[in-house]
Amino acid sequence: MKKILIVEDERSIAELQRDYLEVNGYHTDIAGNGEIGLEMALSGKYDMIVLDLMLPKINGFEVCKHIREQLDIPILMVTARREDIDIIRGLGLGADDYMTKPFKPAELVARVKAHLNRYERLIGSRGTSSEVEIRGLRIDPDSRRVFVRDDEISLTTKEFEVLHFLAIHPNRVFSKDQLFERIWGIDAMGDTQTVTVHIRKIREKIETDSANPQFIETVWGAGYRFRM
Ligand code: CA
Repeated sequence: MKKILIVEDERSIAELQRDYLEVNGYHTDIAGNGEIGLEMALSGKYDMIVLDLMLPKINGFEVCKHIREQLDIPILMVTARREDIDIIRGLGLGADDYMTKPFKPAELVARVKAHLNRYERLIGSRGTSSEVEIRGLRIDPDSRRVFVRDDEISLTTKEFEVLHFLAIHPNRVFSKDQLFERIWGIDAMGDTQTVTVHIRKIREKIETDSANPQFIETVWGAGYRFRM
């Protein structure tokens, strides 16, 4: 089930958005101010953000900008003033879409659906079976082979899966918990330490200087990110 984060300080509006999205099969969480919203968004748990512009603590402009720096997910900005839309566009914050309040709930649902589909196609076209080639690193998922500047690197199955998963979701931060869940599965034996060990081994194999990694970066307090 797709998870949507609603960042909105007006309770009644947030609840209206929640109710319509949930009726249409989405899971939602609500953040009542910009600070909590940003923190929740950066957890990486959400597939899309519906973001109000005027928010206490940190406003929607800032929240949008910070999310965009770390995550590649759709952001739908909501504002009470039509003239704000031009400002948002002008700032180039990377929001995917804009909507003015009051809006028809059906319109919200339609837009959420459209953006999720579009991102899915985008990710899909990058494909789980397509080859990744960047800065001398080549990952071929069909033959499950990895090359660094034409030298073949030998990775274990899980090392390959971690590297490939991160590489096809570039610039997106995944926590150790998320990686463990995605690669090993929730019911697997082990813990996040397993992830740390695998990342270290992968770096030793693919990086020129594993203390200063060029491919898989550590985002302190958040997790790992494949740099595009
Ligand atoms: Ca507001």
